[in-house]
Amino acid sequence: MEKPVEMAAGTAGMAEAAESSKNFIEQEIEKDLAEGVYDHVQTRFPPEPNGYLHIGHAKSILLNYGLAKKYGGKFNFRFDDTNPTKEKTEFVESIIEDVKWLGADFEDRLFFASDYFETMYECAVLLIKKGKAFVCDLSADEIKAYRGDFTTPGKESPYRNRSVEENLKLFEEMKEGKYADGEKVLRAKIDMASPNINMRDPVIYRVAHMTHHNTGDKWCIYPMYDFAHPIEDAVEHITHSICTLEFEDHRPLYDWVVRECEFENPPRQIEFAKLYLTNVVTGKRYIKKLVEDGIVDGWDDPRLVSIAALRRRGYTPESIQKFVDLVGVAKANSSVDYALLEYCIREDLKLKKPRMMAVLDPVKLVIDNYPEGQTEMLTVPNNTENEELGSRQVPFSRVLYIEREDFMEEPPKKYFRLFPGNEVRLFGAYFVTCTGCEKDADGNVTVVHATYDPETKSGSGFIGRKVKGTIHWVSVPTAEKVECRLYENIVDEEKGKLNEDGTLNLNPNSLTVLKNCYVEPALKDAKAYDSFQFMRSGYFCVDSKDSTENAPVFNRIVSLKSSFRLEK
Ligand code: ATP
Ligand code: MG
Repeated sequence: MEKPVEMAAGTAGMAEAAESSKNFIEQEIEKDLAEGVYDHVQTRFPPEPNGYLHIGHAKSILLNYGLAKKYGGKFNFRFDDTNPTKEKTEFVESIIEDVKWLGADFEDRLFFASDYFETMYECAVLLIKKGKAFVCDLSADEIKAYRGDFTTPGKESPYRNRSVEENLKLFEEMKEGKYADGEKVLRAKIDMASPNINMRDPVIYRVAHMTHHNTGDKWCIYPMYDFAHPIEDAVEHITHSICTLEFEDHRPLYDWVVRECEFENPPRQIEFAKLYLTNVVTGKRYIKKLVEDGIVDGWDDPRLVSIAALRRRGYTPESIQKFVDLVGVAKANSSVDYALLEYCIREDLKLKKPRMMAVLDPVKLVIDNYPEGQTEMLTVPNNTENEELGSRQVPFSRVLYIEREDFMEEPPKKYFRLFPGNEVRLFGAYFVTCTGCEKDADGNVTVVHATYDPETKSGSGFIGRKVKGTIHWVSVPTAEKVECRLYENIVDEEKGKLNEDGTLNLNPNSLTVLKNCYVEPALKDAKAYDSFQFMRSGYFCVDSKDSTENAPVFNRIVSLKSSFRLEK
């Protein structure tokens, strides 16, 4: 490509970058708008209420919502509830909560595909009248056998040439409940020799004497997904029906249905690759087993990546949006590193959350020259990188909790924390010099001793000398004892996700419960979903299930550092 002339170089380059940063779906939409195929953009998220949503669905939700917003269009939220066997109201409610939480604003456009059963039925009748659908008496096994495969063409059903009148009568009888499940089906009459197996006279309606969560016992025939879905899109004037790659081979059938059912300005389907994450379990089958075996604490266990679990763990909608943006949309399936999700939540919380002091593995530090019984309030900044978060008062006294790992009797090289004779800074307070420790009969350190230098008070402008280490602390008389939970990935892909017998190879360290943690008194009133940075230990969120009043349980969302770096 030729280089743009000097003066315009900057802007031309930028425009080019913007153009190439458009994903392939955006490019298709813009082409459609430019060519007048559509004069508006309308997208949708169409979950089947048969389980909880996970991070992959979040991608689909934010992608569809984002496209509608970007092109001044609308985003519909529709339950694809055409299959009465697997669907439950519990899932409908959790899915609505998740979509709202993610911030995908569907305004007043929450729909149920089952509300269109009448229209679907009319479409089927229209197809019969046009000679494009027929009632077939073959059994499910026979239909399968007649279908052929990639190398053999299918064989036509002996019922394929029934008259329109006969088909109308039989279909009516199917609807009236004259036939048992599986006795008769309605099939599209397309092409049994088509190289695309989906086009070989697919079943479009079946008999199922079942109660539907929305329509009750009104219907005993139900439309098949491939027939129902394009009609749902068309009824709602969806323009771009965005779905995942496994539906690519179904697109010719999608187009056939909207064309033959004579919808004006029919929608078009565009496929993208599903999102997969490393080191997590997304398959509904596996999650169900983990729940049933009591290995995880429900669908919202913080080690899972259902949206409910991510919310409980402390992920924010903003962090998930950032993640989805960074991952982008692709046409080929691949797995994204879990560490990218962690990077996104760290980036989101870094400047937003106060940095509190919490000691997870406590040992006492006694400052022998500090007045006994005295408590002074120290002012500490809430976030040293963001002044806007202001400051708070933290009580300081003679006896403190510090992390056990912040003291060593015999330190290795480059250990800058407490050891006999060494001076460190207590964050927001004073310099202290370690004078020794006490031990129990087994040689475990029980108390660390130190002296402080009153001249070194934080904020006093002291510049006399420097120390290499800063440690955090919590004053014992006012400390709150809390439970903290630390997590690791539930499976480790490097060690193999599955065992030889097909069961999950679970990480035995995926959950560590610490019951003797001490935090500043300010954290006592933390509410469910509140999150904080605990200095040096990571970001923590108040558990929404197991916290009680004045006794918060903290879930570690993510540690402060990882080896992961976003390539710039
Ligand atoms: P099932 O496992 O039962 O097939 P599903 O994951 O396909 O379920 P649906 O409720 O049918 O769930 O999905 C709703 C929408 O979410 C669909 O448009 C689907 O393509 C999309 N979707 C599902 N999984 C992912 C994923 N991993 N990445 C991106 N989009 C996804
Ligand atoms: Mg599905």
